Parts: sequence; C-alpha cells; structure tokens
Amino acid sequence: MATIFSKIISGEIPAFKVAESDNFLAFLDINPLAQGHTLVIPKKEIDYVFDMDDDAYKELFLFAKKVARAIKQVVPCTKIGVAIIGLEVAHAHIHLVPINDVYDIDFKKEKLKLSHDQFVQIASSIASKL
Ligand code: AMP
Repeated sequence: MATIFSKIISGEIPAFKVAESDNFLAFLDINPLAQGHTLVIPKKEIDYVFDMDDDAYKELFLFAKKVARAIKQVVPCTKIGVAIIGLEVAHAHIHLVPINDVYDIDFKKEKLKLSHDQFVQIASSIASKL
C-alpha cells in the first residue's frame, strides 16, 4: 500500500511543497515543531533512509542541503537542525527544523498550529530562495 508521502508525490493528497526535483521532494511538515519545519523525501518509496543505495542517499542529502540553506534565509534561527525519526511514516524522510535551542527539536514538544495561509506563505518564501 502506498505511503501517505507517496500520495503526496502522486498528487493524491495536497502538501505545502517547497522544492521538487525528478527524484526528491521537500514539503512542510503538517505538525511543525517550528515555522519552516520541512520534510525531504525520495520519490522512490523506501522505508528506511539507511537502506537507500549510496547514490540516492548522497543525492537526498545534497537536496536537503539546498533546502536547509533556503529555510535558513527565510526563518530567523541559529541553525537548521536535522533529524531522522521515521516511526510514524514508513517512507524515508529527513526532518529539517529551524532551531535556536536543542529543545526546539524535541519531538515530544507541542506542535505549532499554523493556518493554511501561513503554510502557503512559508512554503513560497522558502521556495523563492531556491
Ligand atoms: P516520523 O515518521 O516519526 O518521522 O514522523 C512523520 C512526520 O510526518 C511527522 O512529523 C508528521 O507531522 C509528518 N506528516 C505526516 N503526515 C503528513 C502530511 N500529510 N503532510 C505533511 N507532514 C506530514
């Protein structure tokens, strides 16, 4: 069965897209830890990042690097924190989270509630830096 992220790739369900290439996609996390919290995924469905073949793995991280640099230009923060969790969605993804403090990337923290317009605005601002 297709993962929820594959449904985003196919357009079956919507997402606030930030960047897209032939093989990778970046979109805003719907339950963000911070404004600009972005997920970077391979379009090819695979559960676990560390099961990706070397070339795809390297390309995924290079793609994530570009996205992280764009987020950093848009969201005031000290660094872009990186996390790989994957306990909820079995489709490889990298979390990019703007942080000022280590607690900003605590996944047990209460998530932000953003409006549709806020998501649209953040996604388009990040996209404009790519
Ligand atoms: P994890 O698999 O533990 O890394 O968590 C999956 C992440 O995907 C969570 O942070 C969710 O908020 C996020 N997520 C789940 N469904 C969607 C969706 N449809 N659009 C954007 N983000 C999602």
